[in-house]
Amino acid sequence: MHSFGIIGAENRRNVMERALIDKIASICEIKENYRLSKISSFKIGGEADIVALTSSINQMSELVKFAESKKIRYRLIGNASNVLFSDEGFKGIIIKTSKMNKIYFRSNEILVEAGVPVTKLAMEVCKFSLSGLEFAYGIPGSLGGAVYMNAGAFGGEFSSVINYVNVLIPRKGIVTIEKKKCDFAYRESWFQHNNCIILSASITLSKGNKAEIENKMNNYMFERMEKQPLEKPSAGSAFKRPKTGYAGKYIEDAGLKGLTVGGAKVSEKHAGFIINDNSATSKDVMELSEKVIEIVKEKFDVELKREFEFIE
Ligand SMILES: Cc1cc2nc3c(=O)[nH]c(=O)nc-3n(C[C@H](O)[C@H](O)[C@H](O)COP(=O)(O)OP(=O)(O)OC[C@H]3O[C@@H](n4cnc5c(N)ncnc54)[C@H](O)[C@@H]3O)c2cc1C
Repeated sequence: MHSFGIIGAENRRNVMERALIDKIASICEIKENYRLSKISSFKIGGEADIVALTSSINQMSELVKFAESKKIRYRLIGNASNVLFSDEGFKGIIIKTSKMNKIYFRSNEILVEAGVPVTKLAMEVCKFSLSGLEFAYGIPGSLGGAVYMNAGAFGGEFSSVINYVNVLIPRKGIVTIEKKKCDFAYRESWFQHNNCIILSASITLSKGNKAEIENKMNNYMFERMEKQPLEKPSAGSAFKRPKTGYAGKYIEDAGLKGLTVGGAKVSEKHAGFIINDNSATSKDVMELSEKVIEIVKEKFDVELKREFEFIE
């Protein structure tokens, strides 16, 4: 039986047809049967049939068109710092944008490709004394993931600097989404509700003082190192901030610091983080997060929502 271009139905780890793999390899660089734990900030995840590393808009368009035409499953990732991959891996193609990594400068406006790491971006714009992205220094995501999540820290977030976002809409083409259509809110965006691939974004910054920008970034990094369990794999804050306070505070007040399921643990350093303490599985992380949600609901009638996304 052939389904979604993947041979066999009995075993979970079915094999993608050779001809399909060869065609994908002719479009862009690929890695076959690739262990996703190697690229995930949680250091968790089984094998993906293929990890595709597109390095241009043309490659991305061709790959998505091919995958759609053959009904092959695919998922976009940037730096995989806000996702939890299943222990069972991923049937289909994980498209990683890290090779789409150019930044174009025009005065204080920049056009940034989806795969640029935002910490590197903050460092690059600082070289030109451009201010506005200091908050992003230390966020381990890519520009695409940061736009998708409307990532933020220390009072700043991507929505405050974005002008427009270029996206690829499967079977439609490349479209520009102006900021007012991005529907940015706290860790929310239009992109989460519309099937599209973020290709690049235009960002406007302001002229600042290089030493002050550097100083701000260093202070933010210092604070991260002081407060966050950066020595252990995680996806950052595991839960979105509820309207009534901080997720970490509720979790700490519920006495859940150090709570463990298998190898996953609620960090003792920062209760908002679920860490991969000791060879955790995706099941451990999901079970622990469910437990935390349940207990916080029971104790405080507050509904925590996971911030990271489970990809299976
Ligand atoms: C130690 C640590 C600290 C963190 N600190 C912060 C913080 O301070 N603030 C914060 O907001 N977050 C933080 N995070 C979470 C994470 O870094 C951010 O959410 C980041 O924006 C995710 O980017 P990414 O490239 O890793 O996205 P991924 O994890 O790869 O993907 C996240 C989502 O975005 C989608 N996506 C990614 N790229 C694209 C694209 N090009 N087109 C369409 N969809 C795409 C994916 O499909 C997925 O649904 C932290 C994480 C860690 C591990």
